[in-house]
Amino acid sequence: MTPPEAIASVETLLEALPYIREFHGRTVVIKYGGAAMSDESLRDGFATDVVLLKYVGLNPVIVHGGGADITRYMERLGMEVEFIEGVRVSDPETVEVAKMVLLGKVNADIVMRLNRHGQPAVGLSGDDGALFAVGPHPNAERVGFVGEIERVDVDVLNHIAADYIPVIASAGTDRQGRSYNVNADTAAGKVAGALSAYKAVFLTDVAGWLADPADPGSLISQAGVGEVAGGLGAVAGGMRPKLEACLEAIRGGVGSAHIIDGRRPHALLLELFTKAGIGTMVTP
Ligand code: ADP
Ligand code: MG
Repeated sequence: MTPPEAIASVETLLEALPYIREFHGRTVVIKYGGAAMSDESLRDGFATDVVLLKYVGLNPVIVHGGGADITRYMERLGMEVEFIEGVRVSDPETVEVAKMVLLGKVNADIVMRLNRHGQPAVGLSGDDGALFAVGPHPNAERVGFVGEIERVDVDVLNHIAADYIPVIASAGTDRQGRSYNVNADTAAGKVAGALSAYKAVFLTDVAGWLADPADPGSLISQAGVGEVAGGLGAVAGGMRPKLEACLEAIRGGVGSAHIIDGRRPHALLLELFTKAGIGTMVTP
């Protein structure tokens, strides 16, 4: 007799089959951040999920920030940390530290973890292969060197993704060679749009877009671009660049953008390979 656990395992695999078939060869851009990046067991779970995606024939592209780590290192160096409307006020010294932490630590850690789980990854920033052309933020007078991505050149990504998992740190340089901090949600939306990815998935620390940010039960599970654009004015904090990034992705031809709760173990696989449909899905 076949043990029931073995049958259950096979059934789980079979349930995933339609999704595996649908996603084969498709590009999925994943914005990585929040709890999934700061908790050790979630970090490992995330790496396992991404490696599995690559093994079943998807083309995962990771974009990450590093807010908490950057703040920690700035404090160690005795630097002042200030935010205006969710944007880090960035003088040249802040950008220097942000870039060092983002590339030297956060990016390197993600790459190592993916390597260790069996799929080689390659880390890069907006500078590598001239991936991002960056210009100043409209509010540059107050926020300093916070960049806006003016153009994404996906050529380098396509080369890397043919064999490796690209892991992108959200930083870049303008034509004059000045470095900038770039919001990682914004970067992920631009990259997804430029690649015309099949999906863009944003991991965060809340259930998704909430009608009332104080009420975790008020999840908006699906919204069209019109609804998102209409509701944007009332959204504050880090959810705003995330929703804007969903719009940017969809405008670039992405099929759907998902904001999901990265505090849940294996949130990525739950979203992609089950009917559960967690979080907020933004559609054209
Ligand atoms: P991440 O690391 O995912 O970028 P952020 O802190 O930048 O996290 O963005 C998510 C935050 O946005 C939430 O933790 C929440 O405090 C805030 N927020 C503001 N308005 C909303 C809303 N309407 N729905 C959900 N979150 C919101
Ligand atoms: Mg954020």
